[in-house]
Amino acid sequence: MSKTKIDLYLQLLEIPPGHLNIMGYVDESEVNGPGKRAVVWLQGCQRECEACFNPKSWSFEINQLISVEHLVEKILNNSKNTGVTFSGGEPFWQAPALTEVAKKVKAAGLNVMSFTGFTLEKLQSEYAPACSHELLAYLDILIDGAYVKSLAINDPNSLVSSSNQWVHDFNPALKDKLDWASDQIEIHIHKDGSRIITGFRGSLE
Ligand code: SF4
Repeated sequence: MSKTKIDLYLQLLEIPPGHLNIMGYVDESEVNGPGKRAVVWLQGCQRECEACFNPKSWSFEINQLISVEHLVEKILNNSKNTGVTFSGGEPFWQAPALTEVAKKVKAAGLNVMSFTGFTLEKLQSEYAPACSHELLAYLDILIDGAYVKSLAINDPNSLVSSSNQWVHDFNPALKDKLDWASDQIEIHIHKDGSRIITGFRGSLE
């Protein structure tokens, strides 16, 4: 059942200031943007798209809380990460804390990319979630638009999953690097035995 905006805002208020509610995290992914990247999956998405790759990300209940400082430390601790990608869930519902993460990792020389179910136009409008304009200012790449099953591309060489989505490359230095291995699936196995499967047709488990 879809959430009302009030339900959604009340659940977002349960996240302590300076923290993020995340669904998962991996280092050195090569299928979520250019180079090797830390990937942060944010918890919570109100869209409930048919055939969403990560339906477990829909709930806005608290899953894993992590402070901005701890997350930045994790990202920078792995020297192979050349960038960070925010995925979801819907990253822009947590734009205030993500802006702080983006600011700190960019200062350390990493590039920042985000997926979103919103359109860029909506994020640039007065109706955007709080701090969206600030987060956009720190992004090198934005992939916008919710997944629409009837517009699915089903091409492993495509950088987007459905034809309504768009790659916005704000950083000219990355123009010739928009060729990540979107036709591959990665399986990340963590020390505690948990695993994350990500990439083309992959899902976060
Ligand atoms: S916007 Fe993305 S995360 Fe949200 S329901 Fe749609 S496909 Fe899933």
